[in-house]
Amino acid sequence: MEIALQGKRVLVTGGSRGIGRGIVLAAARAGANVVTCYRQEGEAVESLKAALKETSGDHHVLRADVGEIAHVDQLLAETKERFGSLDGVVNNAGVISHIPFAELPADEWSRVVDTNLTAAYRVIQQSLPLLNQGSSIVNIGSRGAAAGIPLRAHYTAAKAAMIGLTRSLAKELGPRGIRVNVVAPGVIETEAFDTMPAERAAGLRATYAQKTALARLGTVDELAGPVLFLISDLSRYVTGETVNVDGGI
Ligand code: NDP
Repeated sequence: MEIALQGKRVLVTGGSRGIGRGIVLAAARAGANVVTCYRQEGEAVESLKAALKETSGDHHVLRADVGEIAHVDQLLAETKERFGSLDGVVNNAGVISHIPFAELPADEWSRVVDTNLTAAYRVIQQSLPLLNQGSSIVNIGSRGAAAGIPLRAHYTAAKAAMIGLTRSLAKELGPRGIRVNVVAPGVIETEAFDTMPAERAAGLRATYAQKTALARLGTVDELAGPVLFLISDLSRYVTGETVNVDGGI
């Protein structure tokens, strides 16, 4: 089934690679106009721009490090200039690291919390003047936040906090007709798998596949689908929810 986002204006953070890239391209193909951002220049950015040119719509790929408040403010100022208003915001940009808690440096805690959580605070706050009646905010969490994962206390703490942020904002912004939800991915296979040694990738696939009811990892498109549903008017009575997209872990 195709979801129609014709003419909707959507901001997706961290769209150059992985899940964010999948959401950006799926939204553009569904008829949305998309603004997205990235941190590092490179081939991924250029190929995203090229892929977006293949779709109709008014798309903008901008450089902004969402871990920096000033960059977020600039991103939203540019979004306002180009679009005037927004119908959807997807807080996708995220970073992770694997470090024993006893050795976790304060600056790494801050980097992970700033990018995964504080960025969402600032993006949503600065989007508020742009958000139309009926608009939708989707925060990308993680299935691991509810489960807990060793060596990722900082990451899961930030992702769990996304749920509190979402629940409270669903109530605070609901009277304005703004919906706020979390999509919590399980293990989604992105290009990152292509950059690892084949044996390690196969090992990860096998380990995680046996944890899911569907006995396999998810694809970027399978994650983008529920996000598009939450941006679209099909979900106009859904707010404050966490949708686990995890193949039935
Ligand atoms: P990737 O590392 O593959 O891609 C992350 C994207 O976000 C890239 O485009 C990256 O751009 C961008 N990004 C990262 N940091 C910043 C920043 N500070 N400012 C702007 N852009 C930034 O991640 P995934 O696609 O795997 O993950 C996407 C989201 O999904 C994250 O929030 C992650 O926590 C969550 N998630 C993913 C899972 C998975 O299995 N893949 C599982 C659970 C949750 P650049 O290259 O320029 O840094």
